[in-house]
Amino acid sequence: MTASELNDLSRLCIHTITTKPWAIEVAIEKYAAAGVKGITIWRQWLEEKGPVEVGKMVRESGLEVVSLCRGGFFPATDKAGRQAAIDDNRLVIDEAAALGTDLVVLVCGAVPGQTLAESRKQIQDGIGTILDHARAAGIRLAIEPLHPMYADERSAINTMKQANDFCDLFQDPMIGVAVDVYHLWWDPDLKQEIQRCGKADRLFAFHICDWLTPTKDLLNDRGLMGDGCIDIREIRGWVENTGFNGFNEVEIFSDSWWQKDQDQFLESIKKAYLNDS
Ligand code: ZN
Repeated sequence: MTASELNDLSRLCIHTITTKPWAIEVAIEKYAAAGVKGITIWRQWLEEKGPVEVGKMVRESGLEVVSLCRGGFFPATDKAGRQAAIDDNRLVIDEAAALGTDLVVLVCGAVPGQTLAESRKQIQDGIGTILDHARAAGIRLAIEPLHPMYADERSAINTMKQANDFCDLFQDPMIGVAVDVYHLWWDPDLKQEIQRCGKADRLFAFHICDWLTPTKDLLNDRGLMGDGCIDIREIRGWVENTGFNGFNEVEIFSDSWWQKDQDQFLESIKKAYLNDS
């Protein structure tokens, strides 16, 4: 693929959390005006207007809803907690259908004080329990492996291999993987596991941002593409070599960017997307 083929906005998607200070109607208007084509909506941005109304606003703007973020968090130390998670995941699936997307991203969860193996078993049980509901609603589920620094309370699934192995347990076309460079860039097996994921037709989403040095906050110090040490273009090449032709989703949680002018941030995202990812 040549640089000029890479360098256009036709597959640029932005997560609403990236421009956190913007309400949903502002984000939709600004993204569309900037030439962004896709939007991934975080659930908080549905709270005010609801998924039906937000879906309508997105379609009228010409944007496409790429996915709803996020479901998951299946593990809990008691049965009531696990049941509450299942109920909430059924609700996320219904919200996604009402919004007009066919993809929910799962941050699978973990609980400090119980083993990762137990959490993985609970994740497997949880996904197994909601699968019929997802299938009936036509909603695919993307397991997003998270960097191991989140293994204590956000996800017991931390590598592409684990995500692939997990999908193998189900062998179901509704269950796949969201590849996020922030979580996975360090993994020596990443290229081969991305290939494995593509071969199984389960690479559902691709998230981009950068890893800053030093990282000041474990959650909210993600960098703009090109500001950190991830070779995003190389990983994107591996992803696209599998046949993936979906959106490149900019997902940046950043206390420092959120404090700046969001219009300027959006311009910086476009520039970084074209030049550094
Ligand atoms: Zn992500």
